[in-house]
Amino acid sequence: MTVELDAPPRATPSWTRRHLLGLEDLSAAEIETILRKADDFLEVSQRSRKKVAALTGRVVLNLFFEPSTRTRTSFSLAARRLSADTVDFTVTGSSTSKGESFIDTARNLEAMGVDVMVVRHSSPGAPHLLAQHLNCSVINAGDGAHEHPTQGLLDVYTIQRSKGRVAGLTVGLIGDIAHSRVARSNIHALTKLGARVIVCGPPTLVPPTIRRLGVEIAHRFDDILPQLDVVNLLRVQFERQRKGLFPSIHEYAALFGMDSQRLRRAKDDVLILAPGPINRGVEVTPEVADGPNSAILQQVTNGLAIRMAVLYLLCGQRSAERQANENAPVRETAETP
Ligand code: ASP
Repeated sequence: MTVELDAPPRATPSWTRRHLLGLEDLSAAEIETILRKADDFLEVSQRSRKKVAALTGRVVLNLFFEPSTRTRTSFSLAARRLSADTVDFTVTGSSTSKGESFIDTARNLEAMGVDVMVVRHSSPGAPHLLAQHLNCSVINAGDGAHEHPTQGLLDVYTIQRSKGRVAGLTVGLIGDIAHSRVARSNIHALTKLGARVIVCGPPTLVPPTIRRLGVEIAHRFDDILPQLDVVNLLRVQFERQRKGLFPSIHEYAALFGMDSQRLRRAKDDVLILAPGPINRGVEVTPEVADGPNSAILQQVTNGLAIRMAVLYLLCGQRSAERQANENAPVRETAETP
């Protein structure tokens, strides 16, 4: 029983960030700090009373400009399990339709006493912009095709819990690498923790420059399949694509979809992941998605623990900053007599 989770969070020496904007500039040690903290919260989520008092009195606001099922619900639930107050901002019906800018909207919401703003937006860099204009903590919950850090964290966490390690494993990211923020966050987390990463998809959906992030590129799933310890099946991001990047969805499924025939040619203990939403029969067939190698629903469970860990660590850092300001010696100004 981790009693200290009922007390207000304190600063952790291995975590000194106010925001979580991406995994690109996080160190392996920082990623590991989040994963270790998630272990505590996974335990909380398994209790019959799934609640600790750590964030009592704090306010977490979800500011989502794009659809979401898992991420928004899981951030809300994570905040509630930590006893924070939560607010879901929905664009429909808000004053953005009256011409209020993104920054003004966020600053007005922050003025109601928000401690953490969880932001999803179709423009890459939108959460980074808010972090420059707000005093509260900002969490990137997906910015265009750029990053989705908590998804990257929950994916490596699921791999670590299932395989006992991440270092030395070969992970295949299959599908629409070009338009997937999940791909980028996975690549950063996996390479930092020592995995070998192969990205695989039709040439039109795999930009050759992705190699610079330290990954290998393949275009034939069947060629790399037997080497893979983990297969992460990424959805084709039709909403971010121009038309005609591959001949048909049927052909895509035949070449890059994970079905039971392919599963037979993979390692016996291959771990199947997918960030969701899954399109059954496209990137994965129902037998595989619901079969024994699949950890798709465990990802969702683990995501809640990861988001609790992130909220806890960011609030701990903010408390430490506030305390440091209160304890700072008052500086004399020119007006001081
Ligand atoms: N839910 C994930 C995201 O928002 C993956 C996806 O939509 O395909 O990026």
